[in-house]
This record gives sequence, structure tokens and C-alpha cells, in this order.
Amino acid sequence: MRYISTRGSAPVLQFDDVLLAGLARDGGLYVPETWPHFTADEIKSFRGMSYAEVAFAVIKPFVTGGTVDDDALKTILDETYAGFNHTAVAPLKQLDGNDWVMELFHGPTLAFKDYALQVVGRLFDHVLAKRGQRITIVGATSGDTGSAAIEACRDRENVDIFILHPAGRVSEVQRRQMTTVIADNVHNLAVDGSFDDCQDLVKALFNDHAFRDEIGLSAVNSINWARIMCQIAYYFWAGVQLGAPDREVSFSVPSGNFGNVYAGYAALQMGLPIKQFVVGSNSNDILARFFDKGVMKMDGVHPTISPSMDIQVSSNFERLLFDLYDRDGAAIVDLMTEFRKTGLMEMSQGQFAKAREHFDGYRLDDAQTRAAILDVYQKTGELVDPHSVIGIAAGRACNRDRSVPMIALATAHPAKFPDAVKQASGVYPDLPERLSDLYERPEKVEPMSNDADALMAHVRKNRRAA
Ligand SMILES: *Cc1c(COP(=O)(O)O)cnc(C)c1O
Repeated sequence: MRYISTRGSAPVLQFDDVLLAGLARDGGLYVPETWPHFTADEIKSFRGMSYAEVAFAVIKPFVTGGTVDDDALKTILDETYAGFNHTAVAPLKQLDGNDWVMELFHGPTLAFKDYALQVVGRLFDHVLAKRGQRITIVGATSGDTGSAAIEACRDRENVDIFILHPAGRVSEVQRRQMTTVIADNVHNLAVDGSFDDCQDLVKALFNDHAFRDEIGLSAVNSINWARIMCQIAYYFWAGVQLGAPDREVSFSVPSGNFGNVYAGYAALQMGLPIKQFVVGSNSNDILARFFDKGVMKMDGVHPTISPSMDIQVSSNFERLLFDLYDRDGAAIVDLMTEFRKTGLMEMSQGQFAKAREHFDGYRLDDAQTRAAILDVYQKTGELVDPHSVIGIAAGRACNRDRSVPMIALATAHPAKFPDAVKQASGVYPDLPERLSDLYERPEKVEPMSNDADALMAHVRKNRRAA
């Protein structure tokens, strides 16, 4: 499979290079040159397969042409999903007649990002080993996403990871999910400053090109194609459980950077009969407003009780735009340049109609989110987290056809956001058994001053030598 940039002028790459590249050199995002397609019979053959087997069938066409052969891919997927906490890996739960939830929180950090990052960490190691290279990942987190990156990189031979968080400004469960990972290549740094300071420090390192080359500086950002590719698998998995390809299914996805729901769109392109996508937002509703009016308008970031969806701009949306504009890279350059300059992007009626063919958007503020958590709990006995419930409630509000199963993606375990869940439902969600001693585990974390030179010195000294 070859990959092209949404902005049309970066080199065409094979999978291994796309994996390591992240962002394309022209500022665009990589997408497959053509969509692989499964016939109805091929989709039927997924019935009865395990999650890892479905993932293998779905991912295989995307990695061809590189060093990840069938055996390597199979080993990576078997190993990854054997480490999850539920034999179904992504179990479906029924809330009502055609109202379903797919639980994507049975990985090591209790959030859906594990489903891709656990694979991507292993893919990095595989490709780096083949090339005799090492990388050093440096990233900043406000608490909610750092642990998935750390868990993905722990014990990887050719990767060292340094994650910065603002000291004292991360919740205890989030801090402990990061700092209780005790591994030679994992470094948690508690920065004397804010989350913005952490991000500025990381930027300073990336802007120092000599340093960047010296240590093989890299990121595990949400625009990496390999993450999308892994997420496509659970759309096929869920669809097949509920009758596809003989029957259509719909999905409702709590969204931030648009990576998760875009993977669903990819599944549609690959032949899964999907009726509808509902894009759920919190008060950071740039996506919901877009699907309402066809205008993308930038706004400030508002902190909410669903912090993993607190975004200003949904970076992966550019991949959908690329298809809406018939894969015209020059048109995307114009649109994005205008958007960066004015904070506004307006689509023609034709493109907007095309976007609305399958997509609806819906927004819940914090009060509505709490009310929805209580409602689900009272009616079904299920405790759901503030992100997942936005999927559930948005799916109900926008359902176009109640004869089609609506599958809401539960993106985090309730115990990951215990205070919000308790406040909404009156019930404190317990951690799953294998994390139940999280509050007793030893922590490994080092203080770091808000100083780029000090950070560089620290990274140089503590990363493992080649
Ligand atoms: C990252 C995240 C999201 C948003 O997913 P996108 O792919 O950025 O749209 C939603 N819920 C949770 C719990 C997350 O961690």
C-alpha cells in the first residue's frame, strides 16, 4: 500500500515510512492511495473470528510493501489483544432494543487509545529493529492521554519515552496510571509549571534541529496513520456481531480530534454497510456546529468534565475533507491556509451535502452530560464515563432509523473519571480488579524545572544508549 498526503506535495510513502513520519512534510496527513475493499462474502468470513483475527484481516492490506509481513503482524496483534482484560476485547452491551454500546476500555489504561497505541508501539519496535534505529519520544500531557503512550512504549527495545505533566495539576488516578509504570525506558517528568509550559518545552526540543537529530526525537501524535488503521478493526468487529453485511449498522462516537470516527468512515469505504455516524461533542463543539451549518469556526478551548474531547481544532478532519474535495490536495491547501488565517472554513453546498450523507453532529454541555450519566444508570444499571455517555446520548438524539442498530463507542472506563461519575450518579466507580492496587503501587517520577536546556540535558543523560 502506498500513502499520499492530503496536501498533495509530500513524497508518496510505503507503510514503514508513514509509521515513522507522522505528519507529512507538506503539513498534510497521510492517507492510503486507494481504499482496500472487502466483498460481502469476505465480510461474512469474519463471523466467528476472534478480535485479533478480524484485526489481522482488516490491517493486513495497509501494511503490505514494508517489513511487516503476515507472521510479524499476526504475532503483534495476538500479543497485543491477549493482554486485554476481556476475552471479547471489544464487547458489545445492549442498553435497549437497537441501542448498543461497544466497550473500548479493556486495555491497560482503560481508554480506547490502547486499541491502537498498543499495536503501534510494537510496530515501531519492529520497524526500528529492522532498520537498526532508535527513537526518543517526548510528549506533554494534561493527564488524560499520557498513560496510553507510556503503556504503549514500556518494554519496547528501541524506544525511550519522556512524558511531561504539570506538577500537582493532574488528578491522582491519572498521575498514578503514568508514574506506576516502572521501566528503564519510561520517564515521567513533573514540570514546575502549567500544561502550556509543558507543551512549550516539547516544542522547544522539536525546534532544536541538531538536538532532534541527535536523539531521534519523535512523537506519538493522534494524526499517525497507523493509529487510524488499527481503529478500523473494531468497526468491522461490531458490525459483524450485529449482522453485517446482511444488515446495516450505525455508530455514535464521542469525538475530539476526529480520529476515532474517521476510522469508522474508513470502514465504510472498505465495504462495511454503515447507515449513519453521529459525532458527539462536549461544549467544545466545533464539529457539531460544522455538521449543523457547513461552517468550521475556531473557538477557544473550554475545560469540561470530558477533558479528552477538549479540543480547539479536530486535526483528523482534514482526512475527511480530502475525500469530500475529491482528493484535490491543492484545494485542501487553500482551505487550510484560509482556516489558519481567519479561523473560518466554509464549504460549498455540494461538499456539505456529501458530508451530511452519513454524518450528524450533536453536542452536550456538562449539565446534560451529568444528566445522561444518571439516566443511563437509572434505566440500565450501567455506570458510564462522561465521554462514553456523550456517544450514547448523541446517538439517541440523532438516530435516523430505529430499525438499524446504533452502536455508541464507550471510549473510557468510568473509573478513569471517578469524580464526575460519582457527582452525576451518586456511585463511585471502582477500578477493575487488575488495577485495584493502583493507589498502593510505587511511583517513579522526577521533578523538572520549566527550562528547555535542563530538559534537554535530562533527556540526553537518561535515554538508553544505542
Ligand atoms: C481521545 C479520546 C476521545 C476523542 O477521540 P478522537 O479520536 O480524538 O476523536 C474520546 N474519548 C476519550 C476517552 C479519549 O481518550
